[in-house]
Amino acid sequence: MNNNCQENPTQPTDNPEYSVVIPVYNEEQVLPLFTSNLISAMDGLRKGYELVFVDDGSTDKTWQILNELSKSNPNIIAYRLSRNFGHQKAIYAGLQHAKGRTVGIIDGDGQDPVEVLVDMFNCIEPNYDVIFGVRKKRKEGPFKRFCYFLFYRFLNRITKIDIPLDSGDFSVMDREVVQFIINVNDPNPFIRGLRSWYGGKQKAYEYERDARQGGESKYSFLQLLDLAINGVTSCSKWPLRFAVYLGGGVSLATLLYSMITVLLKIFFDYPSDNFSIGWTSLIAIIGLVGGMNIFLIGVIGEYLSHVFDATMKHPTFIIKESTVSKNNKLDK
Ligand code: UDP
Ligand code: MG
Repeated sequence: MNNNCQENPTQPTDNPEYSVVIPVYNEEQVLPLFTSNLISAMDGLRKGYELVFVDDGSTDKTWQILNELSKSNPNIIAYRLSRNFGHQKAIYAGLQHAKGRTVGIIDGDGQDPVEVLVDMFNCIEPNYDVIFGVRKKRKEGPFKRFCYFLFYRFLNRITKIDIPLDSGDFSVMDREVVQFIINVNDPNPFIRGLRSWYGGKQKAYEYERDARQGGESKYSFLQLLDLAINGVTSCSKWPLRFAVYLGGGVSLATLLYSMITVLLKIFFDYPSDNFSIGWTSLIAIIGLVGGMNIFLIGVIGEYLSHVFDATMKHPTFIIKESTVSKNNKLDK
């Protein structure tokens, strides 16, 4: 433990040593317990800190709870997005508002242990730029675990940047890394990808991921797929290259096949004039090549959508209200 004591070390300050960014979406069931655990753990660091909650358009009592919490503890700041923008954008919003010299990210459902976060804060200075959590054991269902397993291995194979297997957003980063992520200004940020892209001195911290303290996962299968596709297409051009190789390979194979059939017809009159011969293989080939075409157009479309988002110049998120502005209003 770091015993670098200060006078009133946990008092709120404009320049906190540590910020913790916590995205939350409909977490009324877990928020009070999670927050009190987090506060106890952060108090133990005995340095100034802030907890930056981002309510990602919750429809339950999450925002009311955050308001209450921020009134009772000045270290807590909460921002409410105008609608549900998604986990990654909520984190991004938090990073933009975090003021600490070192910034941590933790989910608000109690799955990532607060003791590990504190340990990461203790270990980062002066040795590392980033310390990120790597999940040793997951307590999710077998299907989700299998999907995660496949995704991280696939992503690692196709990207030049080293995105460590089973690493999530749970991490602690130096201000310089946070500033880099903010400056990239990606309309569809993939935080763990950007974090890896930065490079520097990064350290993996293995931990066991707990089950949720309450409530349900907000990621449906389709949303996970969305995250995976965004992760792949924002970190790698490999699918485009794959399309080129596949298209080239299929064209070559088709050329050979047509040459063989023409030669067979000329020299051996095969097949004879019964034109139903070969119909099944024809349909199979048309179906396969047609399907591949649609798939590959979809791949190009995914990249095009990144360009589209960038040209739209919509903000990545919109903050509807915050406990800071509310307090300011009350002050007036
Ligand atoms: N979350 C969010 N916006 C969303 C979905 C989730 O801010 O659209 C938050 C959620 O409240 C939680 C964290 O992101 O604190 C991780 O979400 P979840 O636990 O549902 O994902 P899982 O752990 O199941 O992958
Ligand atoms: Mg979770």
